[in-house]
Amino acid sequence: MPRSSLLKGLVGALVGGIWFVTATPSSSADSSSVFSPAPITAPTSPDAARQRIAALRAEIAHHDALYFQKAAPEITDAAYDALKRELRALETTYPAEAAAIAQPVPIVDDHNDGFAKVAHRTPMLSLDKAYTEAELRAFCVKTTTKLGQTTNFVVEPKIDGLSVSAIYEHGKFVRASTRGNGREGDDITANARMIRSLPHELRASNPDGTHNVIPDIIELRGEIFLSRAEFTRLNRERFAEGEPQLAHPRNVAAGTIKSRDSNETAERHLDIVFYSWGTCEPTSSSPTTQQAFHAQAKAWGLPVLETFQVVPSADEAWAAVQALGQKRAKLVAPIDGAVLKLDDVVARTKFGESDHAPNWAIAYKYAPERAVTQLRGFTIQVGRTGLLTPVAELAPVALAGSTIARASLHNREQIARLDLRLGDFVFVERAGEIIPEIVGVDVTRRPLQTEPFAFPTLCPACNSPVIAAEDVAAVLCANSTGCPAQLRERLAHFAGKSCVDIKGLGVATIAELIASGHVRTPAELYALKLETLATLSGFRKKSSAQLLAEIDRSRRADLWRFINGLSIPRVGPATAKLLAKRFASMEKLAAAQPADFSADLGKATTQAILAYLAVPNNRALMLALAKVIPRAELPSTATRLKGETFVLTGRLPTLSREEVVRLIEAAGGVVASNVTKTTDYVIAGTDAGEKLTKAQKLNIPILDEMKLLQLLKSD
Ligand SMILES: [Zn+2]
Repeated sequence: MPRSSLLKGLVGALVGGIWFVTATPSSSADSSSVFSPAPITAPTSPDAARQRIAALRAEIAHHDALYFQKAAPEITDAAYDALKRELRALETTYPAEAAAIAQPVPIVDDHNDGFAKVAHRTPMLSLDKAYTEAELRAFCVKTTTKLGQTTNFVVEPKIDGLSVSAIYEHGKFVRASTRGNGREGDDITANARMIRSLPHELRASNPDGTHNVIPDIIELRGEIFLSRAEFTRLNRERFAEGEPQLAHPRNVAAGTIKSRDSNETAERHLDIVFYSWGTCEPTSSSPTTQQAFHAQAKAWGLPVLETFQVVPSADEAWAAVQALGQKRAKLVAPIDGAVLKLDDVVARTKFGESDHAPNWAIAYKYAPERAVTQLRGFTIQVGRTGLLTPVAELAPVALAGSTIARASLHNREQIARLDLRLGDFVFVERAGEIIPEIVGVDVTRRPLQTEPFAFPTLCPACNSPVIAAEDVAAVLCANSTGCPAQLRERLAHFAGKSCVDIKGLGVATIAELIASGHVRTPAELYALKLETLATLSGFRKKSSAQLLAEIDRSRRADLWRFINGLSIPRVGPATAKLLAKRFASMEKLAAAQPADFSADLGKATTQAILAYLAVPNNRALMLALAKVIPRAELPSTATRLKGETFVLTGRLPTLSREEVVRLIEAAGGVVASNVTKTTDYVIAGTDAGEKLTKAQKLNIPILDEMKLLQLLKSD
C-alpha cells in the first residue's frame, strides 16, 4: 500500500480512542511460547566467554542506569532479565574468566545527585530471582533440607514499584529513603510525606482496647507504587491532553518520588505498602515470624499487602505462586512476581545472605503475558506541541483480560529498532502488565515484498516538513501556528479541566470551528458570536447560548490556568502557578527577559519558555489573551496573600499539607518546595528539616500553624 494513502484517512480518526478497548473477563491470552528472545549462541571458548561477560556487564550497567536513575528503561523487564540470566550462567561456568575481567560487576544504585544520603542501619538487600517452576522448587527443597525438617514459607505478591525504607522513632515517622546501593539510599522524606497512605504515627492502641508495642526505632521496608487505577487515570488525562502515554507505573512512581517538587508528588497519588523490616530496637520487639510482622504492621495502622499465603511445601508454594499470578490483573498494585520467604525469623539466621540478597527468600518473576497478532497500520498522532507519536493499529487480540487493537510505538527509533513492517505478525506484551507494547516481530511469517516503514518526513496533518525534537528521541511538526492538528489539540487542552475549563467545548466542536475558519487560537474563542455557534452541528439556540456563557465565564479563571493553556513545552500546572505568581499578568510574562527567571524553574524549563516567547505569534496570542482576561479585580480573599511565597516543612498539629496548600492558594499565595531568598514565609511543624535551618539562616519569618491561620484571617 502506498504510504501516502495509508496515512490519509488515518489521521483525525484517533480522537477519543484509548487502547483498553473492551474488557472480556473470560478470555485468556494467547500466551503461547512462540516468542523467545533471539537465541544466544553460548561461547565455546574461555576467550569468547570473557568477551561476552564483559559485554553483558557493560550492557546491564547501561540498562541499570536507565532503570534506576532515570526511571526510563529502553528494554522490557523480560529482555533485561534474559541478560542477567545469561550473565549469571556464564559467570558460573567460567568463574576464573569472570574474576579476571576489568569490566566491573554492575552494582545497582538508584542514587541521584541532589539528594542527601541516608545510611541504612541494616543493609537493604535485593532478592535472588527464579524464572521457572524447577528453580522455585529447588529453593524450597534446599531450604527444607538444610533445616532438616518441614517449614512454613510465606508467599507474597512482588509489588512493582520503588523499594523504600521508612524509619519510625518512638512511633513517629521520621525519615524515608530509597534502597540506593543497599548500604545507603537517597533521602526522600519530604516527598514520602505527600503519600496519603503513609501514616505519620504508628497506632499505639487498638479498637478492642489492647495496646501495641511501639519500638524505640524500627526500619520498615516496603514499596512505593502507583496503583493500576491511578496509572490509568493519569494516562487518560494525558491522552485527553495529547501528551505521550506513560509506559510503566513503576517508572512514574520512581520519577515522582524523586521529583524536586513535592507538590508534583502530591498531585500524583502514590501509594506505599510494607512487607518487611530491618533494624528494630529493642530487639525484643522485633517480629519472630513473617506472619507476625504482617499482623503487627496492620495493628500499627500501616498499609500492608492485600494478600499473602502460608504454605508448608514446594507443591503448595508453586500452587500459591500460580494462583497469585492468575489474580494479578485484579490487584490494586501492579505486581511482577511472587516472593517466597522463610516464615521463621530464627531459622533465617541459619541461611545468612550474599552481598546482594538473603539466602532465605526468592522472587519468582512471572513471564509477561504475550499475544501474537497482525500489524494492520501505523497511525501518526500529532500532539499539541507538534510531537509526532506513532501508534500501531493491530488486528484485535485478547491479552490478559482485554482486547488489544492498538499499541503505542513511542517514537521513530522504536519502529526502526523493531523493523516493523505493514502486515507483520508481531508479539505484543503488557509492559508493567498494563499498556500493550510490541516487543518483536515473527520474521518467519513476514509477507513477501515488504519494506521498512518510512517515518513520514511531512506532517500528516499539514504537510509541513518535520524536524528532530531537541531533547527527546522524536520528531516534530514545526508548523506550530498553522497545523490544524496542533491547533485542535492546543484548543482542546486550553478548554480542558486543567486549564480554563470550558464545559461543552469538545474536540469535535473544536475541529469544526477550525475547519470553518472561525477559530485558530484560544484568544479567538472569546470573539465567537451566538450566530456562529448555532451553525455548528449538534448545536441549537439554547446549547449555543450555554456554550457562549461558558466561554465568557472562563475569562475569570485564574491566571495560571491561562498560562497552562498556552501549551508551552515543559510547562504544566505547577510551573504555570509559579509563573503566574512571579509575573502576575499575561502582559508581563509576554515581555519577560532571561534575567526575570530564577533558578528554581530549572534551566531546561526556562529555555523552553524563552524559546516560546521568542516566537512573535506566541507573544501575540498572549497579548490577545491578556485583553480577554478581566482587569485584576480579584475577590478580596484571593488577594490577601497575593504574591507571597510559602514553604512548608514538618508536620502541623491539625492541618494536612494538602489543606495548607489549598488555604494558601485560595488566599492568593504560592507554595514552593525549596527555601530561597525570595521565600516570604516558612511554615514549620514538628520534625521540621533542613528547610527550617535554611530559613533561620536567611532570616525568613517562620510561622507555626496558629500564626498561619492568623495570617490567613487578617485583612
Ligand atoms: Zn502539522
